[in-house]
Amino acid sequence: MSVLEVRQPQGAPVPLILDSPHSGSVYPETFDHRIDRMTLRRSEDAHVEELFADAPNHGATLLHALFPRCYIDPNRAADDIDLGLIDGTWPHPVRPTTKTRDRGVGLIWRDMKAFGPVYARKLTVDDVAARIETYWQPYHDTLSALIDAAHGHWGQVLHLNCHSMASMGDRTTEDGAVARPDFVISDREGRTAAPDILAAVLDPLKSEGYSVAINDPYKGFELVRKHGRPAEGRHSVQIEINRALYMDEATLSKTPGFFRVKRTLSGLVAALAETITRRAAAG
Ligand SMILES: [Zn+2]
Repeated sequence: MSVLEVRQPQGAPVPLILDSPHSGSVYPETFDHRIDRMTLRRSEDAHVEELFADAPNHGATLLHALFPRCYIDPNRAADDIDLGLIDGTWPHPVRPTTKTRDRGVGLIWRDMKAFGPVYARKLTVDDVAARIETYWQPYHDTLSALIDAAHGHWGQVLHLNCHSMASMGDRTTEDGAVARPDFVISDREGRTAAPDILAAVLDPLKSEGYSVAINDPYKGFELVRKHGRPAEGRHSVQIEINRALYMDEATLSKTPGFFRVKRTLSGLVAALAETITRRAAAG
């Protein structure tokens, strides 16, 4: 059983690694969710790996998770666990974040917004341990290996952590019930990427007329936190694409806008490939 896919560079590789942790839609047979499947599927960052499908043609590597983020979320730390979900004694320390405590969207989702609990039961210790071992760990190991290999070879690496967001917030989200911009890019307030790298993500989007917010409402979460160390030449930026630009948010089907966004992102990746290659050459 394959839980992830790595699309390798076509032609000359560059130190640019993209990952899409939330676009997976292969639901494990043992996933006995209470909420109906179509509702649950609205939590996916649907089609994000397809929007970035051109990335390998620019020398970048693209990793994406095949499993759904509500089953186990690669963009959470392995100890971001709500013990209330587990029947029995979890044998490791936990550090639940506010997203986990307040909204139930931790490593393994407890709740989905107004739709209530994801499960009609508690999960066993073995079930949670198996999800970490089978899904979360290989994703983290693969992403770390790709980033480390690029950094080892070039001395610089840019990691673009790719997501999409609902077009509107709601009462359960950081920003409340407001319309969102076309893109949100995040570097944890300057902590995960050099300023010129963030600008290199921002400028191609701005120049095409998109609205872009920086670190608002999203600051960047676990994967950029883990991998972004700009002082060491490891740059990590999170990008959120407004779903209304490319899909029908109720049915998840692509809209004609998909092709414009895909073309924009292809241009963005080409520009980032050039930026990080130049930085690496400058030593
Ligand atoms: Zn996401």
